[in-house]
Amino acid sequence: QREAEMAKRAEPATTKDGVRLEVAANANRPDQVKLALEEGAEGVGLMRTEFLFLEASASPTEDEQAETYRAMAEALGGRPLIIRALDIGGDKQVAHLHLPREENPFLGVRGARLLLRRPDLLLPQLRAIYRAAAQGGDISIMFPMVTSVGEILRLREICEEVRASLGAPELPIGIMIEVPAAAVQADVLAEHCDFFSIGTNDLTQYTLAMDRQNPELAAEADSMHPAVLRLIAQTVAGAKKHGRWVGVCGGLAGDPFGALLLAGLGVKELSMTPRDIPAVKAKLREADFAAIEALAQRALTAATAADVRALEGNA
Ligand code: PEP
Ligand code: MG
Repeated sequence: QREAEMAKRAEPATTKDGVRLEVAANANRPDQVKLALEEGAEGVGLMRTEFLFLEASASPTEDEQAETYRAMAEALGGRPLIIRALDIGGDKQVAHLHLPREENPFLGVRGARLLLRRPDLLLPQLRAIYRAAAQGGDISIMFPMVTSVGEILRLREICEEVRASLGAPELPIGIMIEVPAAAVQADVLAEHCDFFSIGTNDLTQYTLAMDRQNPELAAEADSMHPAVLRLIAQTVAGAKKHGRWVGVCGGLAGDPFGALLLAGLGVKELSMTPRDIPAVKAKLREADFAAIEALAQRALTAATAADVRALEGNA
């Protein structure tokens, strides 16, 4: 019986009318991959590499990082692995980096902004990723908190320099869409990215101007807010102009109804905490794609997050 259950979990999430969505896991360490695969993950859509820094008393070396990325890819046995470059700053403070204190860390030098100022962090990480990729696996690089086309152009240039210096294979390079400016300009950014992954946690925080960690605002800081959904729709439309795929790796992807809405908005890949995978897959399998597209359109014109949630009865 357990075997039947496992086999079911491993099956893809295909809607009743035959549209297949990719369901991946957010996993940060090689030892988390086994559990993710048991839950039915088809790959890792978000490896938050800052955890390698947050959980240690010193920064991991290039060699240590290369080994971790290689082990991740190996554990995945050829399934896709999206490695997100360091996303430090905001809610992720690393004491041993001794970064300057900021008045507003969420609006400060975080993510890609920090990487572009700290080649001593960026270069060893990129070298480690390309070295791991040279040993096999299906690895992509993703940059967090990108706001402008200048950032992605510069990051791509640096990736290419590192890649060429190692004689490593070319890797897909994508960005997180988690700043409203990036969602609004998705059509411009998409020209220079191989894929997008929407970070609904930060996108919600920045769109609604509500701290994602403030318990007082937790009920209102809802990723199903129509303003957030409109930015997601705009991101998908921008990506489509350049033939790029869009995933979501923020919390909304792991909510079964959220996953339906995202699929209906044209998102192709959903990456989530492993334990959320079985319920999301089950929800997608019992859905009709044409119906969820219509549902998503209704959500876009809803007035409030509560109105969006009320649509679940019709799903
Ligand atoms: C997000 O912002 O939605 C996201 C996936 O990244 P993180 O939660 O690591 O900021
Ligand atoms: Mg984020």
